[in-house]
Amino acid sequence: MNAIPSLPLNDKHSIPQIGLGMWQVADTQAADVISTALDAGYRSIDTAAIYQNETGTGAALRATAAKYPREKLYITTKLWNNEHGFDRALKAMDASLKRLGLAYVDLYLIHWPLPTRNQFLDTWRALVRLRDDGKAKSIGVSNFNVDHLRRIIGETGVTPAVNQIELHPHFQQAELRAFHAAHGIVTESWSPLGQGTLFQDATLRRIAGKHGRTVAQIILRWHIQLGLVAIPKSVTPARVRENLSVFDFALDADDMAAIATLDRTPQGDGRIGPNPETFSMA
Ligand code: NAD
Repeated sequence: MNAIPSLPLNDKHSIPQIGLGMWQVADTQAADVISTALDAGYRSIDTAAIYQNETGTGAALRATAAKYPREKLYITTKLWNNEHGFDRALKAMDASLKRLGLAYVDLYLIHWPLPTRNQFLDTWRALVRLRDDGKAKSIGVSNFNVDHLRRIIGETGVTPAVNQIELHPHFQQAELRAFHAAHGIVTESWSPLGQGTLFQDATLRRIAGKHGRTVAQIILRWHIQLGLVAIPKSVTPARVRENLSVFDFALDADDMAAIATLDRTPQGDGRIGPNPETFSMA
């Protein structure tokens, strides 16, 4: 297996370009899937308070610590919607660290901006404090749009290291990617495989045939070549391994151009998950 490349962050740290997504992984499944992933070569795990598997993730990390020491791993978790606000955010982080059994995470994200509640600036100031206190090496956001990013950068002077957003061939997020590039923010793609909705796509199948790869590998390779971080989720060992085997081939310019045409954003379509402007589930 080829080594997983990392992308530099704007705070001198770096992030592996592929991580394991943990949404909808049961707490009791975490040990098996994390051990499989670490053995396959993964070093980055993406969990969140709302996924209710931080405890299982922590147990898995302790069980594998002899082979995979903490400092070699990259652990991300996220602050849930009912924990916005300065004081609540500080407490939420302590609760996550306790469940994980860790002294720090590598990346702590605000999961959703909840713009109608208008608290994300205070929450962001708490994340800055948490970074200064060493509880998170890096801090970032998730599901923030350009306006939200402009506000936190403008009013706190601290640019997020990462914005984790829905991004896949049907929803390519050109505007946000351009803003991120201009401001030194790494783009991390959630639902990078489109939650399985892209596997029958004729263009992707043709490119997969051309390279002798699976459609999942073609999509993940596309994320890599765009300079993104991708966090595919699978609990099936063969797929966990397959999703990491994307560093020994390359898409050519024709492949990249063909995948670019799959974007449904111009038709006002393509999004699978909630719209951050209106999503407010607590
Ligand atoms: P995904 O795009 O990773 O797709 C997962 C689905 O694809 C699963 O059903 C899985 O069985 C299938 N799959 C995975 N690898 C496959 C393969 N090689 N062949 C065939 N099928 C395969 O979708 P996701 O889980 O929604 O997103 C990935 C991760 O992103 C999540 O686990 C979570 O960590 C993160 N996420 C974050 C947010 C957020 O708001 N920040 C939202 C959703 C997801």
